[in-house]
Amino acid sequence: MSRRKQIYEGKAKILYEGPEPGTLIQYFKDDATAFNAQKKATLQGKGVLNNRISEHIMIALGRIGIPTHFIKRVNMREQLIKKVDIVPLEVICRNVAAGSMSKRLGIDEGTQLPRAIVEFCYKKDELGDPLIAEEHVTAFGWATPQEVDEMVSYTLRINDFLQGMFFGIGIRLIDFKIEFGRHYDGDGVELLLADEISPDSCRLWDLETDKKLDKDRFRRDLGDVTEAYAEVATRLGILKDTQGSVTKLSVVKSED
Ligand code: UDP
Repeated sequence: MSRRKQIYEGKAKILYEGPEPGTLIQYFKDDATAFNAQKKATLQGKGVLNNRISEHIMIALGRIGIPTHFIKRVNMREQLIKKVDIVPLEVICRNVAAGSMSKRLGIDEGTQLPRAIVEFCYKKDELGDPLIAEEHVTAFGWATPQEVDEMVSYTLRINDFLQGMFFGIGIRLIDFKIEFGRHYDGDGVELLLADEISPDSCRLWDLETDKKLDKDRFRRDLGDVTEAYAEVATRLGILKDTQGSVTKLSVVKSED
């Protein structure tokens, strides 16, 4: 598939050396993992959908002034991105209780939170990405206090924008996870939104029915995972219709 140098392989994506110095190619795989990779599957077409959905969101965020690593999509599964040093944190933003927060604090899933809550997890697979306090982030030097402030402020802006965007297509944004990276250029260092934003990294519920349109369909064996991602893409106006897109995606899969 590629003669390029592979820089990194993660659970759902591969990074290759880019065409210019300071760039990378981000390849979206069909692999899905959950529970710290204890559960694994290949979901045909997922990578294509996440590539398109993440592109759509990164472009929109760029337009409202959030600096991102995204440069352009190059094909069905790949994007050209700026090379960054990933800050070893998962920044989670929650509007409605779900998942680990519901378990940890005993709050029923679906309970509206009094305000958006931003959490940090330390990116360390061996430890299962533990929840940490801002104190740990700065004390251990994972990010400076100024970077923490910047990440929280970007995260809340991203949350406001995404909540509105999804509300407009009948979807409730329950929570999401983002990552930031440091981008070095001649003028110094800049924090950029990196990684991806897709149904793999968000909880998205249909506004009317509460139907889950995200990775919980895989985590909880609810079925029709790719169909749900295609539904999100369709509502965003990226794909014409769910049926057609899934058929087309199978064709695409065999071609690349
Ligand atoms: N999330 C993610 N990657 C992770 C952990 C969480 O993208 O390694 C996302 C997850 O999809 C959800 C949000 O972050 O949208 C909050 O996840 P939570 O802490 O509830 O963890 P989970 O219940 O998924 O273990």
